[in-house]
Amino acid sequence: MRVAVFSTKPYDEAFLRKANGDGDHELLFLEPRLNAGTAPLAESCEAVCAFVNDDLGAETLQALAAHGVSFAALRSAGFNHVDLRAAAALGIAVARVPDYSPHAVAEHCAALVLALNRKTHRAYNRVREHNFALTGLLGFDLHGRTVGVVGTGKIGACFARIMAGFGCRVLASDPFPSEAALAAGVEYTDLEDLLPASDIVSLHCPLTPETHHLIDAERIALMRPGVMLVNTSRGALVDTAAVIDGLKSGRIGHLGLDVYEEEDELFFEDLSDQVIGDDVFDRLNAFPNVLITGHQAFFTVEAIEAIAATTIANLTAFAWTGAGVYPVALD
Ligand code: NAD
Repeated sequence: MRVAVFSTKPYDEAFLRKANGDGDHELLFLEPRLNAGTAPLAESCEAVCAFVNDDLGAETLQALAAHGVSFAALRSAGFNHVDLRAAAALGIAVARVPDYSPHAVAEHCAALVLALNRKTHRAYNRVREHNFALTGLLGFDLHGRTVGVVGTGKIGACFARIMAGFGCRVLASDPFPSEAALAAGVEYTDLEDLLPASDIVSLHCPLTPETHHLIDAERIALMRPGVMLVNTSRGALVDTAAVIDGLKSGRIGHLGLDVYEEEDELFFEDLSDQVIGDDVFDRLNAFPNVLITGHQAFFTVEAIEAIAATTIANLTAFAWTGAGVYPVALD
C-alpha cells in the first residue's frame, strides 16, 4: 500500500523503514504536518500515517478523501485530533497504537515528579556555574505522601505502581477501576475527594469533550496548598490560565508538563533562533517551580519500535481486511 507519512522526523523514518522489512508498503516520508493545506501531498496514496499534532479535522479528511485516501494510521494512542464522525461519513477508516509502552510515559512522569521535588533542573544549572549552595533546593520525602492518579488505564496504573514503590499512598479516580491498580493497593475515590487529599496529582485520562479543562479554577481551589500537578496526558485537560493563577497564588507549588494546550504551534520543532509568540507558554516557563518537556514522555527505543511495528501491522491489516488491527470508531 502507498502511504503518506506526515510529520516525519529522522527517528520515525528509521524505525518505520525497519518495521516495514522487505518493503510491504511504499512509505512516502513527508516532513510537513498534515492539515487541509498539506493533504494534497497524499495524492495517489491509499493511506496516511499521522502523529499527535497532525490535524485530522473534517476539512483535512475531506481533502484526503478527495485524493483517494481511505485509511488513517495514527502513530499515537490518543485520537482526540481526529474528527471520527467526519471520517466515518467519508469512508476513511482510522486505527491507532493503543499500547506501545506504558512504562515509557509512566517513567517520564515519575522523572518529572522527582526532578520537580528535588529541583534537579535548578541544581544542574547551579553546579555548572560552580554554585554549590543548597538554599532553594529543599525537597520532601516521597515516602508517606499521597499521590492522586486521574485515570488508571495502562499508563496511570503503571505510574500508580511506581509511586506505590516509593512508599506513597495512591488514590485514583477512574469510572472503570483497574484490577492491576487495585492489586498495587490503589484506593479509588471521586475526583472531588482525591484532589484535597493528594500531595501530587497526575493526569492520565484521555482528552475528550468531557475531560476538556478537567482541571479548572474550581478544581484547583480544591487542591492542597502547594500541591504538585503533573500532566503527561494531553494539554487541554488543564485550563492553562487557571493553572498560572494557581502558581501565582501558591496553591500549585510545582507544575510538571509534558503536554501543553497550544503545543502544536511549538513542540517537536527547533525554534531556538525564533521569537516565540506564545506569551502564555513563556509565562509558564518563567516560573522556577515549573518543569516543561516537549511531549517526549513516549520517546524510548522500546516505545518507538512498538509504535512502528503496530503502525505497519495496522497498514497490513487494512490492506487485507479493510480495517486496522486497532480500529478507532465512534462509540
Ligand atoms: P487508556 O485508555 O489505557 O487509559 C485511560 C483511562 O482513563 C481509562 O481507564 C479511562 O477509564 C480513564 N478515564 C476516562 N475518562 C476519565 C475521567 N473523566 N476521569 C478519570 N479517568 C478517566 O490510555 P493510556 O494508554 O493509559 O493513555 C492515557 C493518555 O496518555 C492517552 O489518552 C494520551 O492522551 C496520553 N499519552 C501521552 C503520551 C506522551 O508522550 N505524553 C504518550 C501516550 C499517551
